Amino acid sequence: MKGAIHTWKDVTAPVELTCDVCIVGSGAGGAVLAAGLVEAGLSVVMLEEGSHMTRADFTLQEAEMMPAMYQERGTRGTADGAITVMQGRSVGGSTTVNWTTCFRTPAAVQQHWAQHHGIDDLGLDPHFEAVELRLSVAEWPEAIANPNNRVLLDGARALGWEAKALRRNVKGCANSGYCGVGCPVDGKQAMGITYLQDAVGEGLQLYANVRVERLEVDGDRVVAVHGRGMSPQAGAPDGPAVVVRPKVAVSSGGAINGPALLLRSGLTADGRVGRRTFLHPVIGTFARFEHVINPFWGAPQSVGSHQFIDRGPDRVGYFLEVPPLQPMLASVGMAQFGADLREAIGDLPHTNAVLGLMRDGILPGDDGGTVSLRPDGTPRLDYPVRPFLQEAFRHAFEQMMRIQLAAGATIVGSGHYQPVVARSEADLAELDRRAYGAHEHMIFTAHQMGGCTMGGDPSTSVVDTEHRFRGVPNLFVVDGSVLPTSLGVNPSETIYGLAHRARRFVGEAV
Ligand SMILES: Cc1cc2nc3c(=O)[nH]c(=O)nc-3n(C[C@H](O)[C@H](O)[C@H](O)COP(=O)(O)OP(=O)(O)OC[C@H]3O[C@@H](n4cnc5c(N)ncnc54)[C@H](O)[C@@H]3O)c2cc1C
Ligand code: SF4
Repeated sequence: MKGAIHTWKDVTAPVELTCDVCIVGSGAGGAVLAAGLVEAGLSVVMLEEGSHMTRADFTLQEAEMMPAMYQERGTRGTADGAITVMQGRSVGGSTTVNWTTCFRTPAAVQQHWAQHHGIDDLGLDPHFEAVELRLSVAEWPEAIANPNNRVLLDGARALGWEAKALRRNVKGCANSGYCGVGCPVDGKQAMGITYLQDAVGEGLQLYANVRVERLEVDGDRVVAVHGRGMSPQAGAPDGPAVVVRPKVAVSSGGAINGPALLLRSGLTADGRVGRRTFLHPVIGTFARFEHVINPFWGAPQSVGSHQFIDRGPDRVGYFLEVPPLQPMLASVGMAQFGADLREAIGDLPHTNAVLGLMRDGILPGDDGGTVSLRPDGTPRLDYPVRPFLQEAFRHAFEQMMRIQLAAGATIVGSGHYQPVVARSEADLAELDRRAYGAHEHMIFTAHQMGGCTMGGDPSTSVVDTEHRFRGVPNLFVVDGSVLPTSLGVNPSETIYGLAHRARRFVGEAV
């Protein structure tokens, strides 16, 4: 049976549905799960609060696409305003706007989970193989690395450090560089054109523009999923009620929104829901080159370095990548204002940025941030930038600027609101006189993880190793919120793999 994608235009009166499985959220976790369930013959309804956007809608204009495809119209941040949170909100979730870098879960991280979170071998390899095949994951050849990404490759290697070409989920990528606002040629193998298309072909009923407000729980079972229509420009539900009565419910709304939905439903797992939220907090450095870089062009984030991922047992490790720099993203990232910003953006064609992504949640005592509810029921994220992160920021700023200088930059700047500017390594001493952390320099996140953490111990985890919410056997969580720590690599493939593995457990619960 063929399914359908319904949008706000189709839902003009209250809707009531019954089905085997209702999935909230259509991103990396929800989409891979849905495709497997409908293929197994189950009836599946998916509710997604964002719009259904396709390549015909992707205008490549950041000012139009960011409000349309990012959470809180692209303005999401931590409660103190110190960290900008980039997170997707459309059919396909963050995969519609992500930068396509793919990594399997590192063995060291899986060992850490076994030792500290009671998660024995999850047997993810066959699941990674399956999703890599479906999503055409392959290395983006080093030989065609664009000038922006070459800075990291050349600079790191000149210093004798590891750097390499990365793998991407693309087929027919035209090198536009615009992954962050939706792929205009369907080169990116995002969920909307892969697993969700497969699932709709097999019977998935996907309702876009429906925000799920709460799960109705009776005893130890979810008996209904309560949503409401939400027109594309609305900041809160403004449409008819959509109520689904499934045998099994799945939260796939991603970190931050997923935990918030559970909290609104009175599901706290003894206060653990929302805790241990991780962000891979990111800092950036900017560099000017004499030659043209055109950082808005070319496969984004196609080179990376894990030279500093392991800095010993007492230090936060980090990894390095290169972002695309379209004008709006660049102007936010540069943390400059007025005439300085105008000058910097005028020089964008000669500019490169390197990012340092901190591996949070691994050090003892690093509990990351916390999701709670604002009075109107929307999520609030608090994330203290603790001293061990400040130390890692300090270390990373220096190494990133050294890389850019080694690659031939004429001038490099830290992401501080008053940047440390260096023309040679000698100038980097100024970094010692600066402060690090909240409100000192730009910090952002594109990788939200945790908040419904998986674990072997019922007293410390929110879901078991089969994604089942503790104490509610017909509720599962299948998205990035189950990760018990951050990963030290980009998370999408880990989430695809986990969701592929979770198909069996969710299907068996029906
Ligand atoms: C700009 C950007 C670049 C990135 N680049 C990379 C990269 O190169 N490589 C990589 O591995 N990762 C990257 N990521 C991260 C990666 O895409 C995410 O980690 C991954 O998609 C998360 O999957 P998820 O299923 O947890 O949530 P998502 O994919 O975010 O999907 C969750 C969906 O649920 C919906 N939802 C939430 N709550 C509700 C509700 N109550 N009712 C209805 N719907 C709801 C949301 O609108 C959203 O569409 C990037 C992310 C961003 C934002
Ligand atoms: S870089 Fe490739 S995958 Fe990304 S938007 Fe452009 S064509 Fe699509």
